[in-house]
Amino acid sequence: MPDMTPEVPSALSPLVRRIVASNPGPFTGPGTNTYLVGIDEVAVIDPGPNDRDHIDAIVGASMKERVRWVLLTHTHPDHAPGVARLVKQTGAEVLAFSKKDVPVTPSRIIGEGDAIEGTEFGLEVLHTPGHSANHLCFVLEEERVLFTGDTVFDGMYSVINRASGGDMGTYLRTLERLRKLRVSRIAPGHGDVLEDPKDRIDDYIAHRKERERQVLRLLKKNPMKISEMVDALYGSQDLHPKLIEAAGWQINAHLVKLKAEGKVTGSGVKSVWKAS
Ligand SMILES: [Zn+2]
Repeated sequence: MPDMTPEVPSALSPLVRRIVASNPGPFTGPGTNTYLVGIDEVAVIDPGPNDRDHIDAIVGASMKERVRWVLLTHTHPDHAPGVARLVKQTGAEVLAFSKKDVPVTPSRIIGEGDAIEGTEFGLEVLHTPGHSANHLCFVLEEERVLFTGDTVFDGMYSVINRASGGDMGTYLRTLERLRKLRVSRIAPGHGDVLEDPKDRIDDYIAHRKERERQVLRLLKKNPMKISEMVDALYGSQDLHPKLIEAAGWQINAHLVKLKAEGKVTGSGVKSVWKAS
């Protein structure tokens, strides 16, 4: 397995290198993955947090004038804030889905169907909302590697939090779309490379569908608040307090989807939800 030691570049393929940031945690696994695509011209995917050692490691892995583009899968605080420091050191162009929440003004706005053409590679841009509304994935055409940001991970499930732009219905549609792509590997925003993209995405979809069935089963027995559903569904697991909080966000995201489908009634964290 390639090295996941923070700030040590490791080669994943002829065109892709990875540097893990030093921000491990319950939501980030071993830390945020920054990917360097290309050798003569480099596109950096997700510079990570604004951490000097991490940005120095990115710049040190290439000659700095070779860093031509910085791409953001989305703008959450573990993925995007390093962009300002990286651009200052390299003069790279920033390519993002919109200006919103990007620490520096993007040189180019990119979205579905766009491409980044380097001398050695092409990166195809996919708009993949769900984890956040501005989420992008990228496909490296030469190696059929899918960079999934926070849409698909290794070792844990993605958090869908409505307060940070998440939407469960949209997320499931994005997963269905990604599973149809012809790709050989997934390079996720957190954790190691996934060699079985379809199996992993199927597992993600099945996990969400099962959670939704569990929520509906609970509500068919008794009307409940979100905190009670969290206790019933996650109570037996010895979870980190932050993950308990995240479980509430996830259930809320499921409930909003189920409400739109006419299957439950209720609204918000404090309300008592009922099956309809
Ligand atoms: Zn995120």
